[in-house]
Amino acid sequence: MEKLKRILSQIDGRGYKAYKELQGKTFRFPRYSLCFQYIQGDPFAPPSQVALSIPLKSAGFREELFSNKIRRIALEDFLARSVDKAIEKANGKRRGSGKSGLIAIDVPKQEVIERTCMRIFQDRIEARLFIGLPARGRRIAGDEAMEMFFEDLPEIAESSLFIEVLSKSDIRRHVCVVEDQDALRSQLEERGLVAFIANGSLLPRRSGVDQRPLKKDEAVLFESPPSMEVELNAPNAGKIRGMGIPRGITLIVGGGFHGKSTLLSAIERSVYDHIPDDGREYVVTLRSAVKIRAEDGRRVECVDISPFISNLPFGKDTLRFRTDNASGSTSQAANIIEAIEAGAKLLLLDEDTSATNFMIRDARMQRLVAANREPITPFIDRARQLFEILGVSTVLVMGGSGDYFDIADRVVLMDHYRPQDVTSKAREIAGELPSQRVPAESELPKLSNARIPLPESFNPMIGKKVTVRSRGKDHIQFGRTTIDLTYVEQIAEESQTRAIGGLLLYAVRNGIIDGKRSVHEIVKALEERIDAEGLEVASPFARPSADYARPRPEEICAAINRLRTLVVR
Ligand code: ADP
Ligand code: MG
Repeated sequence: MEKLKRILSQIDGRGYKAYKELQGKTFRFPRYSLCFQYIQGDPFAPPSQVALSIPLKSAGFREELFSNKIRRIALEDFLARSVDKAIEKANGKRRGSGKSGLIAIDVPKQEVIERTCMRIFQDRIEARLFIGLPARGRRIAGDEAMEMFFEDLPEIAESSLFIEVLSKSDIRRHVCVVEDQDALRSQLEERGLVAFIANGSLLPRRSGVDQRPLKKDEAVLFESPPSMEVELNAPNAGKIRGMGIPRGITLIVGGGFHGKSTLLSAIERSVYDHIPDDGREYVVTLRSAVKIRAEDGRRVECVDISPFISNLPFGKDTLRFRTDNASGSTSQAANIIEAIEAGAKLLLLDEDTSATNFMIRDARMQRLVAANREPITPFIDRARQLFEILGVSTVLVMGGSGDYFDIADRVVLMDHYRPQDVTSKAREIAGELPSQRVPAESELPKLSNARIPLPESFNPMIGKKVTVRSRGKDHIQFGRTTIDLTYVEQIAEESQTRAIGGLLLYAVRNGIIDGKRSVHEIVKALEERIDAEGLEVASPFARPSADYARPRPEEICAAINRLRTLVVR
């Protein structure tokens, strides 16, 4: 402590570079130690990084709050939010030029995802914060740095990281709710389900750009139709009842604006756990569920889309389909094949974001355009085969075509945001009013072997400089190319995008992309490293990255598949 004071007063008023003296140094404070993990080069550069390290004993959290992996992630998440709140309070006194005086943590959103800003180790808690070291112009503002480190930071730490200043019941609830979701999700498979939506859930969000729940008095709470109600066991909350969506093909139908897409979005986000009061905290979906949509303009590299598309004009190959500019239907076909390659056991489709000609082809059109002139075998002719042969289920929002009645195991009607089981009604109608379409006769082709990316595809350099960084949630700059993830809808936050960039760079640097591993195997190898060493393993610099959230393997695959320079063999 005294030493830090001394250094700060010595470098006060000197050029900003003199801060570098702090790099790597650790100072003891009464209740924690403060380590300068990274010192920025100038006041306008990305901020510096410090780690606050608190012995677990003195923080006082009982071991049962972090006694297994999921509880630990939940407690880390709680503490990250707690620090953020404390920072909010302490802020308002921002100082000087540039990022001067900034204190920030990589704050989580509605989802609870493993992240690198907060870690609970064997013996200590480590909180990693960004700090804008104070400057006046380009000179060091030592007195303000003094205030930051001797007033603000201690206040933040002491009001957010110690059990005695926190609500024990809030912490318990946070940890229990997250653990329950994990447990519910793990019961899906044995119960033959792909998703579960608890009664009383609040699914709609505040807006298209705000994932917080709609206000309670404006929302209709979810209530399962009796015929689909199941009961699962949550270790903390006890028995929970709700709608179980079984394996197979489930259709969500209903009039426009009756809540179909909202239900599907809740299902698609619930591959992640949610915080208490999110409204979706007892909605769970198979971890490997992938949202499928049309994505015209995307690049596709040697994907076997022949189950859906064949006989393209000019004899273009669809066993190894390659294009820099996919159409709506070819992109959707590639998205499905890639998802299956990544291991998806559940596909989620919404008519709103699907290519019509990929989804349906009715009797009249079949008669007008002969099958041998139509390259597309629509999804309706493959969905059952995907399930029966590959075990891949589908949940599909389709308000516009009753042809799907013929292939659905379940039909759920959304009526004023209330689901009804209309399966038998739909069957009756299908019997009375045959669609008259001719189902494709062909079998599901065996998919070509897994694709193996060549290492040369991945060049993170621009000249002599490694350049890999996220630009918002939807883009990763990878060397000279940009990976566009705009339509990869299950990325929950930019910290995941950042981590994907870090992981790809790690894979390149550590020979994981070796010209022998398939896309799936590359991602599996990455998962193993993360599990063994933590997500920090992907940090590109000597310090642990403080703003990564763990991406799903499906989204890492999605990023590789969208790399415009990808070449596979
Ligand atoms: P659809 O896909 O059937 O056309 P959406 O799911 O897009 O309908 O929902 C239409 C609107 O209704 C959206 O603004 C959505 O936020 C709102 N909404 C959806 N579900 C609920 C609900 N349970 N309670 C209140 N509003 C809802
Ligand atoms: Mg819709």
